[in-house]
Amino acid sequence: MKATIATLSALAIATTLSFAQDKPAGPPKGPGGQQGQRPTAEEAFKKIDANSDGKVTLDEFKASPIGKRDEAKAEEIFKKIDTDSSGDISLEEFKAFRPARGAGGPGGKGGPGGKGGPGGKGGGPGKGGEAPPAAPAGQ
Ligand code: CA
Repeated sequence: MKATIATLSALAIATTLSFAQDKPAGPPKGPGGQQGQRPTAEEAFKKIDANSDGKVTLDEFKASPIGKRDEAKAEEIFKKIDTDSSGDISLEEFKAFRPARGAGGPGGKGGPGGKGGPGGKGGGPGKGGEAPPAAPAGQ
């Protein structure tokens, strides 16, 4: 009896081992994983700020990819970002505007529910260009 059990056990172990060998040990495919590489507000701002004086003028804004796509629209957006109507956009104004409608980075921080909603970085379902207005979370 004991010998049989031992044999069975040995068989079971052998089977387990051979199964373990047959199974592909998790192919190192790594799709995705690098989605968080959109430029920050500062980086986008610096790109538009052609003469690096810390302000984006309407001319600079029109020269940006946004302006090249649609100059009239760019002017409209520019006026929305330029909340104090000084004729140029400061980094603060740019950052404040960005969550509502990203200039190159839709979504970004501040999806529904504030930072890092469901799904970790990126703010959950904020992708797609028409990010909803930042929810006033954490009051
Ligand atoms: Ca400038």
